[in-house]
Amino acid sequence: MNWKPRRDIRVAAVPAFALLIAVIAIRTAPETHEPPPPLQTFTGTRTATKSPLSPSSALSPTSRQPVTPNIPVIVQPVTMTEPEIRVNVTPGGTSSFQVEVRGPFRLLSLSSGEWVPPDALSGKTVVMSTAAGLKIGSHQFKSDRIEIQPESSPTIRIDGHLYRGKMRLFRRTDGKVSAVNVLPIEEYLASVVDSEMPARFPQAARRAQAIVARTYALYQAQQADPKSVFDLLSSQRSQKYLGVEYVDAAGRRLAGESESSRIVVKETRGTVCTWKNELFCTYYSAVCGGCTTDGRELFKDANESLRPVPCEWCRDSPSYRWTTAMPRDEFEKRTGLPGIRERNAVPIGAIYQISEPGQGVISRFELEREGHRDPVSGVELRDRLPAGTLYSPNFRMSFDKNRVVFEGRGHGHGAGFCQWGAKGQAEAGRSTDDIVRYYYPGADLTQLSYAEKPL
Ligand SMILES: [Zn+2]
Repeated sequence: MNWKPRRDIRVAAVPAFALLIAVIAIRTAPETHEPPPPLQTFTGTRTATKSPLSPSSALSPTSRQPVTPNIPVIVQPVTMTEPEIRVNVTPGGTSSFQVEVRGPFRLLSLSSGEWVPPDALSGKTVVMSTAAGLKIGSHQFKSDRIEIQPESSPTIRIDGHLYRGKMRLFRRTDGKVSAVNVLPIEEYLASVVDSEMPARFPQAARRAQAIVARTYALYQAQQADPKSVFDLLSSQRSQKYLGVEYVDAAGRRLAGESESSRIVVKETRGTVCTWKNELFCTYYSAVCGGCTTDGRELFKDANESLRPVPCEWCRDSPSYRWTTAMPRDEFEKRTGLPGIRERNAVPIGAIYQISEPGQGVISRFELEREGHRDPVSGVELRDRLPAGTLYSPNFRMSFDKNRVVFEGRGHGHGAGFCQWGAKGQAEAGRSTDDIVRYYYPGADLTQLSYAEKPL
């Protein structure tokens, strides 16, 4: 089992859509040896399905502007079955989680292909692992992979998040347990759009977000290691995905998707970005700060469409320019670089700015200690300094008395689609396809046409 997120992507050697179809082919449920048992019926207390989510969160729909579907330019229609996506909703694994299914369901052992007694799962039930396999409530299963197949969707809750589709429960080799949500790509995307981009952003920007997120997810699924049990994480290491709704730390029920996000997904249904007729990794970030970063400097699977483009469209963002600082002695302690430990105890005499921010490249520096200059990049420093010190790898750095001062641009790695830039472009009247193409120069938009599933 490979539990690493797929950032180390190999280049597809065969056409992308052929690979996509291959992915779909292996995603069908394993054959069972017996006819399915009767559906387990939920017998616990039901909450009113139409109860309003409260309070209305920032994720609720706020856009009242007229919907003006903006059909992208299509270069190559492709017909295929709608792919399923596998999202690890417990990134990093956990010692246990709580699962609840509010409706009829079946349980299938993915290890043996046999149906297993569903009565283990009743009401809110704790799932954990033991040396023997998975333990669901008081029931010990030999299987270490069990799939919950609900009759209707969304009905499955994991630790307060309500999810569409099916859920796979895994016992990991490190003794933890994981839950992987399996659902059609289009049902996954509405939550990603609301989780990644505020509802107050114009619909043209949110349609662009849907196209970019769809492409990112399908590319990750296409490139997944055959041994891996998931394609994406539900965190920002992949794309943020909260499910249909969730309960926050204060116990409030909040929307994870909205009518607004469902509309933008529907309006862009099946539209993806392609590069020479293949899917590619549509990296994106919140704010580029004036020029997108060359993705080829950051990611080994970035192609030419990740080259830098100027972007003043994100100027309204609070992170367009930022200044932070930290004590000089703490900075010196934290910049211990591999291979030069003998000099790490020596105070830094000077900082040299090797590449300036805003030029489409990541910032690079040299730190001078006792006449030696040690190179370090903005990416490395962002990893080494406390979270929140550096919002992006693009900044200037200087000494100010006993402090190190960082004057930076943007939020996130800055490569590809700029979310705040998309907002600015949409407000200026630019279309969804213009926005997407702007951030991935040379890329095309391709329409996937989903065939009906055979009965
Ligand atoms: Zn920008």
